[in-house]
Amino acid sequence: MRLSRLFLSTTVLLLSLVSLMLVRTMWTDWQGVRRAESGLDAMELAFATMQVAEHASAERGPAIPVLNDPPSDALRKRLTQFQQATDAAFDVALKRLRQREEAELLTALPVLERARAQMQAARRELERVAALPQAERVAVDKRSTRQVIDQMFEVVDTVLEAVTMLSASAERIHPSLSLPLVGARYAAELREHAGRLGSQFTAPLASGAPLGPQERDGIPRLLGRIEQLKALLDVKARTSLSDPRIDAALQAQQERYFGQSLPFIAEVTARGLAGQPYGMDSAQFIARYVPAMRSIVELRDTLHEIGREQALAEVAAAWRRLRVNALIGCCILALEVGVFITLRRRVLSPLLLSTRHMVALMRGRLNQQLPAVQRSDEIGELQAAMHALQASLHRTQELEAERETLITELRQLSHRDHLTGLMNRRAFDDLGPAQLAQAERHRWPLALLLFDLDHFKRINDQHGHEIGDQVLQHVAQLAQAQLRSGDLLARYGGEEFIALLPDCDDQAALALAERLRQAIQQQPPRLPDGSTLNLSASFGLAARPAGLQASLPELFSRADAALYAAKAKGRNQVQLAA
Ligand code: GH3
Ligand code: MG
Ligand code: MG
Repeated sequence: MRLSRLFLSTTVLLLSLVSLMLVRTMWTDWQGVRRAESGLDAMELAFATMQVAEHASAERGPAIPVLNDPPSDALRKRLTQFQQATDAAFDVALKRLRQREEAELLTALPVLERARAQMQAARRELERVAALPQAERVAVDKRSTRQVIDQMFEVVDTVLEAVTMLSASAERIHPSLSLPLVGARYAAELREHAGRLGSQFTAPLASGAPLGPQERDGIPRLLGRIEQLKALLDVKARTSLSDPRIDAALQAQQERYFGQSLPFIAEVTARGLAGQPYGMDSAQFIARYVPAMRSIVELRDTLHEIGREQALAEVAAAWRRLRVNALIGCCILALEVGVFITLRRRVLSPLLLSTRHMVALMRGRLNQQLPAVQRSDEIGELQAAMHALQASLHRTQELEAERETLITELRQLSHRDHLTGLMNRRAFDDLGPAQLAQAERHRWPLALLLFDLDHFKRINDQHGHEIGDQVLQHVAQLAQAQLRSGDLLARYGGEEFIALLPDCDDQAALALAERLRQAIQQQPPRLPDGSTLNLSASFGLAARPAGLQASLPELFSRADAALYAAKAKGRNQVQLAA
């Protein structure tokens, strides 16, 4: 797999995995936030319903005098105020409940609505009884009064049923809220039973009669339930929730309700049972009994407050967890992206580029533009090394070219006579056999001409070596002018020249030699002083007619012999070998 592809797929894979993990964590954390928030809401809902119970309970207080006493605007007004408070509490709780979506919480809705309907029925019944003439109400229709109050009890029972359902749901949504919720519910129930206990005395106190069988049965039952709820509250609140506010609220409840109100109830009960006069009317009784019940409501509120704080802390913690995890996740993601970008920009891309350049260099493309070295890390070193390699390859290429030129020059030099520019003896010896073979192939006649300047030593001696050199150059030019382009001409020794004449028979060779001899004699070089030099040369010629065999050394020795003969016979002449 190509590196770039591998890198890309690894990057995509890792980024997807990290993103997936991040989304999963975020989702879990978000669920945590939702759970904490709905726990808080469910708890608030349970509490709002407890307040409905409290108001429905409290409404009984002003309802009793309206039922029993002569009609009075003040009593009416007070009842209306309490009714409005109950209605408001119902509105709040029902509105909150209707906003919920959890099926579990919504099961409490019909219960609460039923409670409201019961309350309206109880109020209608109250209006009916209250509209009867006073004497009739008290004497004849005592049972109707009792029925109204019982209906109002039922309302609270139904509301408490809704409270139980709601707080159980809240506990299930958020188990850690269980303790304050259960505690508050016990306190609400305790408040209700304390109210009912007080109600047991209103009728006997109003009539001054001893306690009837209903009260004799009801009072101990209510007291038993009250003691039971107190014990449950003590266990729940004191042992499980260590908060000084709860201790203080429990203490206040103990001192005020259990320490003062219950002994007072015991005293009134004792008189009622013994048939003694009570020494107070129902208003005085209420004034002594009811205010201490406030301590129970305060305990309930304290438990609610603590539960609320706990739930808010849970919500805040869930949000914090979500934010911290989101931050960490984003940092990881950003870091990863950063690492990949950096790796790509600083390692992979320059590496791939360098690879391309390197391959190009190795293929001989030396003139490509290499990236400038800008960094001091390993990639920078690699780029610098590439520049050095390019320079070194350039140098090698130049040296190679130089070497080729030198070799060519050397080869030329080794074949040229530096003075006359003609071929030297070696070149002649190298090329001669090929010419010979070619003539043989074409069945050409061929001649070898050897000539030597006469008394050249004298020229050197008389005019100097430099003039001697000029004479040699002059003769070389004359000879070259006489020969054809296919002929081989070389300076064979000091003042001795040789020419191989292919496709040239003896007569043509003789004529050529004669022409050259005359040219040398007739066109001597001019000396610096303006005089001319006496110059002549002797020629030895060996011919090989077409179709005959003769090697270069054979031809040479024959021409040399002819030259020797020409010298011997007085020089400045041409001799043809036999
Ligand atoms: P002959 O007629 O018998 O050939 O007499 P010669 O003087 O020409 O012959 P010899 O062999 O006695 O002398 C040749 C001379 O050529 C000797 C040498 O100094 C001269 N010579 C050879 N090469 C060069 C050269 O390159 N330049 C010059 N200036 N003189 C050369
Ligand atoms: Mg000579
Ligand atoms: Mg000579």
